[in-house]
Amino acid sequence: MLQYKIVPVTQFQQNCSVIWCDKTRQAAVVDPGGDIPKIESVLTDNDLTLEKILLTHAHIDHAGATANLSDQFELPVEGPEWEDKFWIDALPQQSAMFGFPQARTFTPDRWLKDGDIVTVGEETLQVFHCPGHTPGHVVFYHPETKLALVGDVLFNGSIGRTDFPRGDYDTLVHSIRSKLWPLGDDVSFVPGHGPMSTFGQERRSNPFVKDL
Ligand SMILES: [Zn+2]
Repeated sequence: MLQYKIVPVTQFQQNCSVIWCDKTRQAAVVDPGGDIPKIESVLTDNDLTLEKILLTHAHIDHAGATANLSDQFELPVEGPEWEDKFWIDALPQQSAMFGFPQARTFTPDRWLKDGDIVTVGEETLQVFHCPGHTPGHVVFYHPETKLALVGDVLFNGSIGRTDFPRGDYDTLVHSIRSKLWPLGDDVSFVPGHGPMSTFGQERRSNPFVKDL
């Protein structure tokens, strides 16, 4: 079965997640924005072997520690979708602008696209391309546990910002309604910031994407 632990990182309290296969104890880190020692503590506490980095998108608070973590543990990087390359290339400028530790660019070992599958140990997650917050944003979904890791697409009671370069409000709302809602009201999701929720709760009460 897939297990997970949320690790808020950086001054933006971004919900980095360590997810793992409890049969093999192999783990992936989703969105390592910073604070590598906090991530390492989860690995040690749960006796995990880190095998890869997964990225939803390339904003600094989600991807800032990717190059260092990848080097330190010799890990492949999977994601985001190729349209986020300009954000990866801009990581040094993003870190300077937001007062983060100097971030380095990197080249993902695998760009993801809609319909792809990623593995963690013996567990598999589905990839959904959900543009709008960034053009190359992806969401990871584990069907057996009905868990989604949605980055900055959707929050408990809100949605991602669309005022950054190549963000688009209508595209984001369409991504949520056409890609996420069909997965089911009973899907729990880890948002990029703040508390968890379910798709059903957001369909009922989220002012940006609730059912009409
Ligand atoms: Zn973001």
